[in-house]
Amino acid sequence: MRITAITVYQKDLPLKNPYWLSGGRLRFDVLDATFVKIDTDQGISGWAEATPWGHTYLPAHGPGIRAGIETMAQTLLGRDPRQLEIIERAMDTCLPGHLYAKQPVDLACWDIYGKATNLPIADLLGGRRDSGTPVASSISTGTPAEMIALIDSYREQGYIAHSVKVGGSNTDLDIERIRAIESNRLPNEIILYDVNRAWTRREASIVMNAVADLGVTFEQPGETLNDLEAIRKVSRSPISVDESLVTLADAVRIARDGIADVFGIKINRVGGLTKARRIRDIGHAFGIQMFVMATGGSVLADNEAAHLAQTVQPEFLQACWSCQDMLDIDIAPGSGPRCTNGHITIDRTPGLGVKPDESLLGEPVARYVYNA
Ligand code: MG
Repeated sequence: MRITAITVYQKDLPLKNPYWLSGGRLRFDVLDATFVKIDTDQGISGWAEATPWGHTYLPAHGPGIRAGIETMAQTLLGRDPRQLEIIERAMDTCLPGHLYAKQPVDLACWDIYGKATNLPIADLLGGRRDSGTPVASSISTGTPAEMIALIDSYREQGYIAHSVKVGGSNTDLDIERIRAIESNRLPNEIILYDVNRAWTRREASIVMNAVADLGVTFEQPGETLNDLEAIRKVSRSPISVDESLVTLADAVRIARDGIADVFGIKINRVGGLTKARRIRDIGHAFGIQMFVMATGGSVLADNEAAHLAQTVQPEFLQACWSCQDMLDIDIAPGSGPRCTNGHITIDRTPGLGVKPDESLLGEPVARYVYNA
């Protein structure tokens, strides 16, 4: 089997509500999505999506994905898409770094591999489970009462996991928020307090020590891995690492040095499922629980995360995340499993299990064709 063509689409995905990230460092109302279709000489096509969370959340942006694919296209054409690690090495050799640009190529190849073997991607990654994966809500910052009301609205929809955004220079308000939300926590509920890098080391120390008696988990309470390592030494609250977990070497360092207790695996950031599954395995080996997300995007991105989440041992899995309900557009109407009752369940459809309605994508922005 050979890759015969790579077709790239750009699509703006409007959000239902404008989004503010913790710390007020960005506000946006549309996501820049890239959809990729890879064709083969055996009539099987694979689909993928890459949608960074705006341009300022991570060093990743839509134009960079499309430029990266252009740089890598000639080395990919003619290769066997089922040879995932050969594809991975070809991309890493042709374009060092830029992991987020490689993720959609990797995903489209996994989709082809699943369709060629008649298996869902989750089975190829180790085996899907029939039980659904909990989906975490995303609770933006507000007054304690506003945040509790938002969590309640998700509880009514069946959600048992919540990513609660905190972080800012008003440490007293963060302490008040956390205490109020914890006094309303239901048994067995999963709550991560996501700081999204907004605290300095001093602010992290103040808040985390003030609520140390609660035993709550803080996600990315500082900017860098060095910051998390320093915060670790002055706090006994569990830490989840999100933005600072990029490479396999990062995962190994975090595990070896005990910097965090939870991995937030964002598949776009780490460069695709081929790389993400190794980070999953490090988590399993070192007693580190996991939270799995694509980064953002439509039902395609959500399903990519759900496939990997399904292969995490249940006692290690915190939740996955579903972005599609935050969008004002459905790019794949009627296609693919959806978040229902706060859970997403992967079915037995081969490959990714969802493809976009091509008529909704508009004209391709690029198409690369193999000339044997
Ligand atoms: Mg996070």
